[in-house]
Amino acid sequence: ISPFENSSRANLPRNMIENSMFEEEPDVVDLTFPALDPDEVVYEPRSSRLLVRGLGENDMDEDEEDCESSARLLGMSFMNRSSAHRSNSSPYTRQAPPRSCSRPSARTMVVCVLFLVIVASMTMVLYFLPGYFLLFVCHTNKTTPIETVYPISTNGKLFPWAQFRLPQSIHPLSYDLTLTPNLDDMTFTGRTVINMSVHHNTNCIVLHGANLNITKATFKVGLEGVSSDVTVLEYKPRQQIAVKVSDDLKTGQYCVLTLHYSANLSHTYDGFYNSSYTDKDGKKRVLAATQFEPLSARKAFPCFDEPAFKATFQIQIIRKPNYMTLSNMPKAKSTTLTSGLVQDEFEKTSVKMSTYLVAFIVADFTPISKNVSKTLVSVYSVPEKKEHTDYALSTASKLLEFYNNFFEIDYPLKKLDLVAIPDFLAGAMENWGLITFRETSLLVGKQSSPLEKQVVASVIAHELAHQWFGNLVTMSWWNDLWLNEGFATYMQYMSLKYCVCLQGNLFLAVRFRALDKDALNSSHAVSTEVNTPEQVEEMFDSVSYEKGASILLMLNACLLGEQQFRKGIIQYLDQFNESNTDTDGLWNSLTQVEVSTQHLNVSEMMNSWTSQKGFPLVTVSRKGDQVTLTQEHFLLTSDNTTHTSSLWNIPVTYVNDSCSLAPECRQVFTLKTKSGTLKLPESVKWLKLNYRNTGFYIVHYGDEGWDALTAALHSNVSVLTHEDRASLIHNIFALSRLGRVSFHQVLSLLNYMSNETETSPVTEALLQLSNIYRLLDKRQEHGLVSRMKDYILDHFRSLMDKQTWEEEESVSKQELRSALLEMACSLNEENCTQKAKALFKEHVKSNGTIRIPGDLQRVVFTVAAQSDEDWDTLLHMYAHATYDAEKRKMLQGLASTQNARRLVWILKAGLNGDLIQTQELPLVISRVCNGFTGYLFVWDFIQENWDQLIEKFPVGSFAIQTIIKSATSQFSTQAHLDQVQGFFSGLKERGSQMRSVQEALETIRLNRRWMDQNLSTLRKWL
Ligand SMILES: [Zn+2]
Repeated sequence: ISPFENSSRANLPRNMIENSMFEEEPDVVDLTFPALDPDEVVYEPRSSRLLVRGLGENDMDEDEEDCESSARLLGMSFMNRSSAHRSNSSPYTRQAPPRSCSRPSARTMVVCVLFLVIVASMTMVLYFLPGYFLLFVCHTNKTTPIETVYPISTNGKLFPWAQFRLPQSIHPLSYDLTLTPNLDDMTFTGRTVINMSVHHNTNCIVLHGANLNITKATFKVGLEGVSSDVTVLEYKPRQQIAVKVSDDLKTGQYCVLTLHYSANLSHTYDGFYNSSYTDKDGKKRVLAATQFEPLSARKAFPCFDEPAFKATFQIQIIRKPNYMTLSNMPKAKSTTLTSGLVQDEFEKTSVKMSTYLVAFIVADFTPISKNVSKTLVSVYSVPEKKEHTDYALSTASKLLEFYNNFFEIDYPLKKLDLVAIPDFLAGAMENWGLITFRETSLLVGKQSSPLEKQVVASVIAHELAHQWFGNLVTMSWWNDLWLNEGFATYMQYMSLKYCVCLQGNLFLAVRFRALDKDALNSSHAVSTEVNTPEQVEEMFDSVSYEKGASILLMLNACLLGEQQFRKGIIQYLDQFNESNTDTDGLWNSLTQVEVSTQHLNVSEMMNSWTSQKGFPLVTVSRKGDQVTLTQEHFLLTSDNTTHTSSLWNIPVTYVNDSCSLAPECRQVFTLKTKSGTLKLPESVKWLKLNYRNTGFYIVHYGDEGWDALTAALHSNVSVLTHEDRASLIHNIFALSRLGRVSFHQVLSLLNYMSNETETSPVTEALLQLSNIYRLLDKRQEHGLVSRMKDYILDHFRSLMDKQTWEEEESVSKQELRSALLEMACSLNEENCTQKAKALFKEHVKSNGTIRIPGDLQRVVFTVAAQSDEDWDTLLHMYAHATYDAEKRKMLQGLASTQNARRLVWILKAGLNGDLIQTQELPLVISRVCNGFTGYLFVWDFIQENWDQLIEKFPVGSFAIQTIIKSATSQFSTQAHLDQVQGFFSGLKERGSQMRSVQEALETIRLNRRWMDQNLSTLRKWL
């Protein structure tokens, strides 16, 4: 999956999350129940649930507790309250809990107490009759611990499985799916036949199913056996269903389960969901598409919805004649049924795959196609956007050929479709053979800028890399999601360099952002335990993606050349082809290749980077010819209780003033212990560590070291590579945030910037300065704001003035000028705003024939949006624009107005999704937050509309992470900290446990600390 924006998040006490899953779970029968008297049950329900969780107290407050208990009494629905409250949704996200809660009447109380006494007595009987009790639950070859507490199914019977993860006794071999979606009433019916093999003796089958109304179920043992009807039990909070069979299934047997069901097409962005768009005649067109990763295949068909349960799939879809269908495999045949509907039958998948990679689409799209070796590559879009698909087709073709050669394993399917879906939340999704995209991630206009093309090429490169990393070789469980996403992110940047000849500075920038996030105490290890649906969602963050990619780059850089790394990953792909693995599996493959040459133990080295959160700060101190390197955890939240003794195995690279640019200059020192020493002639003037910033660590050079580097850059910018210059800038700002260097030192280093012309150091410096500028602005530090503005303009004006406003062919130059001009115009620098206004007027006057270069559209639209008249013009243009990349920039312009009424309007429009698609709401929010007026409105907006937000975007999802981060990352006062804390802690299971909440709180505290420590310095030195 490829998320659209970069954003980040943070860490939580695991047991809080664990508990939260169960807070709304009244439907648990507990074997210890008889020990309690009914009153206790009413007021202390948590004590009776300890066993099932084994995790101690949860943190409900008293009111909530009473409320839950009373609600239980009121409804008399102790056994299956969840079925009433959760009937059409996943339990964690879309349903708000009951809002108000009145006291039960005395009569109800009496009835309830009686009822509870009866329940208690019955449970007591069960407790003393374990043999009887065990008839109900899943037999596995493992002994069931007697204290296990089984939940109650929707029909009141005991549900035979009590864990989040499915049992291992039954494995699916193949699925046969027939789906009949009805796009008129947005429902579908389905039939799923699952062939399974028995791995351990058992008497029941537990799998996933969510919001499926199962109408008929049959089961047979052996492929030739006789089917008989069976009852399906459902436990909604875990989205599990179960079938109990009368005779024990024996290891090695085969069996077949057939389920008929009906369901609604989802109105959110996951499962089998409906989407729509308006065609060129203004007519609304509907379609249905799927998004299953991570946990939503179960919403379209009953299945073993965990990545390690790989199987083959045969899919049939029945549709109206005016639609077309797509799925993972090529279409085998179409048959017209007597009803007039058409049944499309797809070939059985030639590979075993995980359920989250299954996909199908019913729409009226049109394709363009091309043969690439043995694969037919096609790009699909809505008919009127067909002309925007050429670039995607040629890029996908080149990349497919590149990966086929690079991995030495051919893409295994006969076809590869890339489909632009009008309403799609992620950037793209790597479904095997049927990759789905947002329109902006796939479609490119004829006149698009190289920067826009680079965005599309990099998303395609990412998703294509997944066809090997993720699809062919899959992580066993979501804790190792980085094996998918870190690799795809790494390959996305590598392949662009080799094969599409577009190379900007994006990879370096995203590595800096990954460091920033990982410096928080709320971060997590790359490979981290995952036990709840929210935690699965939360794995889709910059640690899995960008940190994952960064540590792969670091590993590659310390092996002997690109080939060694490549050999290792080919070995890995070979070894785990069509199966599942974990982080150790990867390191072992790499070690096997490596051992023969360098005796570097890859496992030993890399484990220190994947099993602990954060990264090291390497401090350099020189005395005579001795250089001492010391490592410690770079942790921004520095209170003593969070002190860690983490150590990393760091391949430290360094260059010095005698040789600093060419790769041959680079020397390596492995720092495994707390400190290490290397020798260096005293004549060496300065040292620069982390050559080209390929390592995932930050370096502190001490006062003298920083002074020497600052002086060197002052006399000649070109003594270091541009990556090294950018890394010095990033590192010194980070150290200032940590409190290790004064802001005065930061400003001294930045003095060389007036001679800087390269993209990455300039954009990094601008980003860091604008972060501070925004904080000051939000604090209403007027004096400092205007001095900061003067400071930025003083240092960058000459470079700003040099930028042209015509078409530019180099990606790197586009990145540079858009960053400079956006900064200049946002500071109201006259030259910039005049040119932007003029260009907008010309563009409008010429009816769009005079083009605004793609990389300058955002700045031009943003300047235009500041005037009421041009804002209206821009809104009109937005409503009529068809080219999505351009449309997105118009939206960013519209959202940057400082007019409060317009801001409120645009936020609401994003939420209701008509004129502005809801998929764009996270972008709108982040843009609105940049402005002073907007950031306060957004915070109110989020609080008021939280329930609607989590109905659209799952709790923990990347979209929610982005929204929380945008809304809170510029707060720096105690008052705001209290507000944010108060709001989120009140959410309970509706989001208070999210890591991104912890990250937000930590960030506000850090902002406050930075302000306290640096305002006086700024007043003095700026
Ligand atoms: Zn991905």
